[in-house]
Formats: sequence, structure tokens, C-alpha cells
Amino acid sequence: MKSLGIMGGTFDPIHYGHLVAAEGARHQFNLDKVIFVPSGRPPHKTENKISDPSQRLAMTNLAIASNNYFDISAIEVERPGLSYTIDTVLSFRSMYRSSKLYFITGGDAVLEILTWKDVGRLISLCTFIAATRPGYHLEHLEQAFLELPAAYRKNIHIMEVPALAISSTDIRERIRTGRPIKYLLPESVEQYVNKHNLYK
Ligand code: NAP
Repeated sequence: MKSLGIMGGTFDPIHYGHLVAAEGARHQFNLDKVIFVPSGRPPHKTENKISDPSQRLAMTNLAIASNNYFDISAIEVERPGLSYTIDTVLSFRSMYRSSKLYFITGGDAVLEILTWKDVGRLISLCTFIAATRPGYHLEHLEQAFLELPAAYRKNIHIMEVPALAISSTDIRERIRTGRPIKYLLPESVEQYVNKHNLYK
């Protein structure tokens, strides 16, 4: 593979915004494959309650089933301890020695990159694609990225994804308050959420 996308996120739950972002990145950056990597134990969310990693892995698996360019890795779910992106990217680097690696995730998450473990090494190992919601976020992100060191900035691309008006937070809130989630996420994921009584 010449170019590989690593799609990192908590995916609690995965929704159409994530899928559209991954497909958009695949097309725009000519990626041979996009591998979804649900975060096992997100390092910055130790106090938040998130769904079980195995459930988020199962929902992601259901969501990507119909796209031959998509794949999934349980690497972060299976690795003990906190899920640092540097460890994941190093593993992918050793598995795909000659591929160009892209790490795709939310723009708001990338904004915090200076706080990530081994950020200098990380940014030298892969190119970041920061997927952002439409509207003010784009200017906000561009402005905020100006504060990052120039060497980092040249390895971060911002990609506006209108479908990211959908958010996991909103879906969880809708479920809690009895509002519909239909058409915001794949039907198979909606059925999984209902069957396992998630986010109530
Ligand atoms: P988050 O803080 O939950 O999300 C921040 C924003 O980005 C939210 O609006 C979120 O929307 C969006 N987002 C998250 N993943 C996305 C994706 N793949 N595509 C499009 N939008 C996305 O972020 P997170 O999910 O916990 O972390 C994102 C990635 O960064 C994960 O792979 C995580 O492991 C990595 N990370 C690493 C470190 C570290 O190594 N120290 C620290 C922080 C994060 P939704 O809620 O709708 O997804």
C-alpha cells in the first residue's frame, strides 16, 4: 500500500459524520485504505464515562462493513494501558514500512496536539488530517493552528466535512432525552445501541 489512513476516535457511537470524513479523506488524499482504530482508553478522558471498548469496536465494525476501502484494527482496544497515538502509529509504521501514513481525526482533538505524548516524533511519522465541522470552526482552527510550530503545521491538513454537523455527543443526548437518532448513524449501529440499551 502506498498510502494508508488511520482513523482515530472514541466512536461513542460512530456516526455518518465519521464515515463521510473517512471517505472524503480517502478520496482527497488518494488513500489505498482507511483503517478505523477505536480508542481503547483515551488518555485525556480518564474521568469521563465512555462505553466499553468492545462495544465501540463492535459498532465501528458494523458501520464500516459496506465499504471495501475501510478496515478496522483492535490494536488500541487490545493494548493494555492508556491509548497513546504515538504507540499506535509506531505499530502501523512497523507493519507498513513503505506506506505513507495519515492520521485522520477531529479538528478539535488535533488542536490539543501539543499535549499529546511524544508529539514531535508523532508528527514526523505521519501526516495529520483534521476533520472539522462547517462554519466558524474552520477559521477558528486555522487561526488556532497558527500557534503551532511551523514544522508541525506543514504536516497538518484541515478538511471541512459538512456531515460532521452530526456528533456523538448530540446522539448520546438525543437518546437520553428520547429524541430520534435515525439517519444520523447506520441502521446496524442504531440497532446495536437499542439492543444493548446504550446511553440511557
Ligand atoms: P474527542 O475529544 O472525543 O473529540 C474531539 C472532536 O473531534 C469531537 O467534536 C469529535 O466528534 C471529533 N472527532 C473525534 N474523532 C473523529 C474522527 N475520527 N473523525 C471526525 N471527527 C472526530 O476526541 P477523541 O475521539 O477522544 O480522540 C481523537 C483521536 O485522538 C483518538 O484517536 C485519540 O486516541 C487521539 N488522541 C490521542 C492523544 C494522545 O496520544 N495523547 C490525546 C488525545 C487524543 P465526535 O464526538 O462526534 O466523534
